[in-house]
Amino acid sequence: MSPHLKTPEEIAIMREAGRIVARAHQAMRQAVRPGVTTGELNKIAETVLRDHGATPAFLGYPKPDSPNFPASICASVNNELVHGIPGPRVLKDGDIISIDIGSIYKGFVGDSAWTYAVGEIKASVQRLLDVTEQSLFVGIKASVLPNETRDVSSAIQDFVERQGYSVVREYTGHGVGRNMHEEPQVPNWWPNKRRQRGWVSHKLQVGMTYALEPMVNVGRPDTRELNDKWTVVTADGSLCAHFEHTIAITEGEPIILTLP
Ligand code: MG
Ligand code: MG
Repeated sequence: MSPHLKTPEEIAIMREAGRIVARAHQAMRQAVRPGVTTGELNKIAETVLRDHGATPAFLGYPKPDSPNFPASICASVNNELVHGIPGPRVLKDGDIISIDIGSIYKGFVGDSAWTYAVGEIKASVQRLLDVTEQSLFVGIKASVLPNETRDVSSAIQDFVERQGYSVVREYTGHGVGRNMHEEPQVPNWWPNKRRQRGWVSHKLQVGMTYALEPMVNVGRPDTRELNDKWTVVTADGSLCAHFEHTIAITEGEPIILTLP
């Protein structure tokens, strides 16, 4: 299936959806501290989304053979990579937490994730966060004509692996629009065989909108899912980070839609 290209009017609405997500992240940056629970963070983020006229894209999100996602944010702590369910867990000094937030505004989705330090973290952990954030911007920089999505994927992978970390294979960036997950799929690595796992490299086109979301592990790239059928952790228990923006492809530099 070819990606749905957005009109400038649609991209303007997506910019609003993204701005609301960014506002919720600003609130997270303020609220993340030792002693807060992930459930409290969820409540704060949901309030920001709703106060701006958006609905949480993740709440009730369906997945085959799983209960619908029960919260408005994903809150994944330390060795949890993505899809952590917020609840009574209390954050401690030295933890890291990856918070993923999606909004739906006037029928369009904004999607952005960020890994935050809780209190004081070790320099080695800060480096993981810095490299993962930088890899997101490496991917954004590569998101220009006449590149293909695999050029974006390879740029992210090369950068991360040169820094001595690994990129997760199973979860990928994705087109965003009226749906949270559309074409094109944008992995954070590119296998040698082009069509491995059914991945197709798409030529970038003006009006393409996608979320780039590198997920980086200190240890091996492998992950596994917990019994709650949602939370994904690193298989070897190593720390991991996750940074994500939704962007729009233009004739020149891409537009980051999920900024304040
Ligand atoms: Mg996300
Ligand atoms: Mg996403």
